[in-house]
Amino acid sequence: MIVGLDIGGTKIEGVGLVKVGETGEYNTAIVHREPTEKGCYHDFLDSVLKVIDAVASHGEIESIGIGCCGSVSTDGLMQGANVTVLNGRDFIGDLRQRIDVPIAIANDADCLALSEFQDGAAMHAERSCVAVIIGTGCGSGVIINKGIVTGLNKLGGEMGHNPLPNYSPEQDGAPVKCYCGSMNCAESFVSGTGFGRTFSEKYFSADSKAIMALVAQGDSRAIAHFDLYCDQLARTLANIVNFVDPEIIVLGGGMSNVDAIYPNVQAKLNQYTFNKAAKTKIVKNVHGDSSGVRGAAFLHLL
Ligand SMILES: [Zn+2]
Repeated sequence: MIVGLDIGGTKIEGVGLVKVGETGEYNTAIVHREPTEKGCYHDFLDSVLKVIDAVASHGEIESIGIGCCGSVSTDGLMQGANVTVLNGRDFIGDLRQRIDVPIAIANDADCLALSEFQDGAAMHAERSCVAVIIGTGCGSGVIINKGIVTGLNKLGGEMGHNPLPNYSPEQDGAPVKCYCGSMNCAESFVSGTGFGRTFSEKYFSADSKAIMALVAQGDSRAIAHFDLYCDQLARTLANIVNFVDPEIIVLGGGMSNVDAIYPNVQAKLNQYTFNKAAKTKIVKNVHGDSSGVRGAAFLHLL
């Protein structure tokens, strides 16, 4: 059994997956959740071990993959995690002292890419795919030659913090400074948060769900804004095509559940690609909220 853990701000989810014959697909043998203990690092570590123990009671563990906020710095310590008790800790080292199986860690976008590449929306891609999360923020997981691109600075896939391509204030709204320090990051426009922000600046305060409800009611302002959003997303994804040219692009995160995105963005994509006849398909993820925990379990398979 291979095990995936998804560590979030409110809960830790563990899953045990078992291979089904030789099809390349996996069945879920057990799912176990515990609340994330954030009071201190040792309580946190205990809650992680509790999930692993519960999963281990359903079969022998071959490996553990962890999808987690933040990243591991070059000195092995956690950084940038919103479960802040983790930061500055040798989390993986501490787990390895307690559990004698291979342990790996990656961020949520990498896990989404892996999950969909292994047995989801990108399972027919041979060597490459890019998974883009459009949710609270915007990040991506890049698989090239069947391997995740993390990079020298652990910045592989951080396309959400490139500037929005072809940005103009007339079209896209007033310049905006991102929390990362850069101006007009794509994330500020194409994340679900960004979609709500740009609409609220132009018309009245509304979040992405409220705007899509207005679109369904035929509100012309919401329809025009959704069309602009799809154009912004097409520009952002065309940059991925021009740079990496993956076999397929899979979308995840809250905005990926808006079905009208796919035909709309697909129709606009080739306005911005270098070759105007690009065949790249933009598709919805298959595994939804389970992508994080499933992708984590697959970390050892690449
Ligand atoms: Zn940024």
